[in-house]
Amino acid sequence: MNNQRFFQFQRLCLMTGILIVASLHLQALENENPYDKPFVEHCSYDEKIPTPSAFLGYPFASRAATYAETRFYFQMLAGQKENIELYIYGETHEKRNLILLAISSPENMARLDEIKANIQKLTDPRKLRDNAEAEERIKTTPAIAWMAYSIHGDELSSTDAAIWLAYQLAAGQDETTQKILRETVVLIDPLQNPDGRERFLAQMRMFNGKVVNPDVQSAQHSGMWPWGRGNHYFYDLNRDFFILSQPETRARIQSFLEWRLQLFVDSHEMGPLDTYLFSPPREPINHNLTPMHHKWQTLFAEDQAKAFDTHGWSYYTREWLDMWYPGYTEWIAYSGALQILYEQAGVHGSAVRRADGATMTYRESVHHHFTSSLANLTTLAEHRGEFLQDYYQERQKTVQPPQKNEIHAYLIEPGANTGREKKLIDNLLWQGFEIYGADQSFRVSGLVNSFGESLPEKELPAGTYILPTDQPQKHIINAVFEFDPRLKDEFLAEERYYLEKRNESRMYDQSTWSMPIAYGVRCYQATFPIAIAKTRISAVKQQENPFPPERPKYGYILPGNDDASTFAICKLLEKGYAIHVAERDFRSGENKFVKGSFLLRNVENPHRFDEDFQQIIADTGARISKADTALDLQGVDLGGQYFSLLQTPRIGIFMGRTVSATSYGATWDLLDCKYRTRISSLDFDRISSLDLRKYNVLIIPSAWMGGAQGGLEPLKLWVENGGTLIAIGSAVSLLTHPNANMSAVRERADILDQLDVYMEEIEREENALHATASQADVWDYSPAKIEKATDAVERKSEDKDKLKRADAWERRFSPQGAFLRGVKDPDHWLAFGVNDPLAVMVNESRSYFAKSPVQTPVRFTDELSIRVSGLLWPEARKRYAKAAYVTREGKGKGQIILFPYQPNERGYYDETTRLLWNAVFLGPGLGAQAPIPW
Ligand SMILES: [Zn+2]
Repeated sequence: MNNQRFFQFQRLCLMTGILIVASLHLQALENENPYDKPFVEHCSYDEKIPTPSAFLGYPFASRAATYAETRFYFQMLAGQKENIELYIYGETHEKRNLILLAISSPENMARLDEIKANIQKLTDPRKLRDNAEAEERIKTTPAIAWMAYSIHGDELSSTDAAIWLAYQLAAGQDETTQKILRETVVLIDPLQNPDGRERFLAQMRMFNGKVVNPDVQSAQHSGMWPWGRGNHYFYDLNRDFFILSQPETRARIQSFLEWRLQLFVDSHEMGPLDTYLFSPPREPINHNLTPMHHKWQTLFAEDQAKAFDTHGWSYYTREWLDMWYPGYTEWIAYSGALQILYEQAGVHGSAVRRADGATMTYRESVHHHFTSSLANLTTLAEHRGEFLQDYYQERQKTVQPPQKNEIHAYLIEPGANTGREKKLIDNLLWQGFEIYGADQSFRVSGLVNSFGESLPEKELPAGTYILPTDQPQKHIINAVFEFDPRLKDEFLAEERYYLEKRNESRMYDQSTWSMPIAYGVRCYQATFPIAIAKTRISAVKQQENPFPPERPKYGYILPGNDDASTFAICKLLEKGYAIHVAERDFRSGENKFVKGSFLLRNVENPHRFDEDFQQIIADTGARISKADTALDLQGVDLGGQYFSLLQTPRIGIFMGRTVSATSYGATWDLLDCKYRTRISSLDFDRISSLDLRKYNVLIIPSAWMGGAQGGLEPLKLWVENGGTLIAIGSAVSLLTHPNANMSAVRERADILDQLDVYMEEIEREENALHATASQADVWDYSPAKIEKATDAVERKSEDKDKLKRADAWERRFSPQGAFLRGVKDPDHWLAFGVNDPLAVMVNESRSYFAKSPVQTPVRFTDELSIRVSGLLWPEARKRYAKAAYVTREGKGKGQIILFPYQPNERGYYDETTRLLWNAVFLGPGLGAQAPIPW
């Protein structure tokens, strides 16, 4: 930031600060239980450094500091001392800077570049001459600690702890502080999610009164929809660490790779009536984490416990925190750093009355976090040499050739979906992975694909991406690429016990996440070396798609199996281009196109195809082909009924009190931020007073019963008049409830005594895909040829209550994030551009069944083949076998499309996200009837 901008910012901070202090100061004064313990006993401080209270103008930790105050204080510290630097390492959606304060001894700060270079070499031992050089560098190199706070914006106390930590390290004269500065470089990331914190603080301010209220149910504690946990698009940033869908995460990962830290602390809050939790975690623990990680987590925990015992504070470890999903900040643990997590009982910047009658104040909660951080830094400073030794030795192992039977490399076969491949490879490069491209095509035996199938022999083309595992990022590569991570027997037994005994799961998050599966790319793992000529890839070039030099005689074509086309189509629709989508495979000249490809005819787009068009094609990387004739006597003519005209979607998304903020946020982000399409966000509670005629696509994200009270009638009318209604996640149950009179799809629990009827229908649908006939069926008729499915079926009549009891029991064993295998109806437009089979992430206890006339573009496979990856109990195999993943049914002139499991959860799963794109952008043209203007 240049100086002028900084001074403008200072003025802004001061003004904002004064306003907030004026409105909230009363609360601090009236606090009924003052907590005024010093954060460090008997410590003297450099008086030239203003304390947080003196500088910010209110008693420190009497309330939560704002983003501006935090930044302002940090900026002041950096201006006061030479051994403190403030960096800006990223920007949020709401244009707030992400800041990082570096602090160490003056000697260390003077040679910071040298320290960073040493650490980079220890991290990648291939850059070192020998062990002796490593020893030499370890002797003189401080360890780097990244102290990160408030990734969840409504977990307030962490940021204030960061402020005091910065003050302590800047002004503390005690030996502990001095030792930390000598032995380590401390990076303080005080606010990982500024947008979320500011949203939550605004809510706290709205509901704060003159009198302090320690009741956690009151609005100044609970906040209101959409709360403050997520960032601007309500993403949980602490799930995004390999997904990288959000700018905060991308910036953080980039900075991690620059600093290559040894310790990462991630500070959180939990329920207000709890105590304090810190690492180590309990099982399941991801097997890609090293023994070094476990060793040091234990040692750090012992010191942290001692620091708490000094005060007699309560705490616990291992009870619910696990370490299985690598998309938390734990990402850094797989990259070599020690990761420690804390959870403080949150008091929302105020005070909370607890069950034992005691009141916990905000200052006390801040004190806990600060004490943890100081304890961790002290442990690191005391063990710096041994820690760096361990770090170096662990890093050395990563660059050694993998052991026998370990995965040596992942191979990604380039295909038609250049847009999606580019996105994936960009992401992998961003995570610091070393990727190569095969110089020539090659044959290889013994690969395993992402569906777990062994391939005896496989020919792979030149340009195949190769991701070897003998590299510094080995553990995170394996953690995010492994197709089917296995939980240990002991954990499975424990999980089963908890489910059966208490109807509770021990899984904190989903059981699987594999990137190649989620992206739907063709990926193979090799448990042997891939010895071929290859070239390192440093960036993925945008596909070079030469634009046809002359305007074709008939029109332009964009392939339907490339995500790059979908980005171009969104922009072209917005600009008013007439676009058709092919419902059959077709050819143009030498080129073949799959169904779902897009055709823009010259005569329907007069005065277009100008520079603007070329720019859109260039920006999106879409591949464009020309069509010089509409005739193909061997195939499909381009001027006929197999090309349907798209309608520009006018999209409304429901939001509000009864809608899941994360489900709404993910869909909002997808359409607004990623596809740059205009959407209206509509209050679900106001549905009956909205003029729905403005929209031709309405989306209900995951929502609970009670939403849209009495409001389904207007929706029904709107659908019948030509609307495309899309329901996601739990909103599906609002429409499929037998009393809703909306959808004919049924939840399994509602049709237990009719499952055989559904199965018959499903069998007929499946048979229809392979239907053949010959004269023998008619002219040489023989009764034996009649298909079994059309025989009269004797209905088994089981006791309905018994079936319900069994279903309720089996529901306990529902998937909490497992990949299930779906197969598509190859003719259905909703499944255009999607692989067959495809993997679907399921984390819901409801399964849904559909039969004709409801169409099921993607359905789960049978009990035997349904599990692709993750924990899927036998009961769940049964309940989800042949269930519907996505359904489409006509209603009047419109249609209802149901996605029982969020297809774009966490901004991930590009494969199933394509289905949602099809629903929104193809739906109005292909599945609903639009009036023709006159
Ligand atoms: Zn949290």
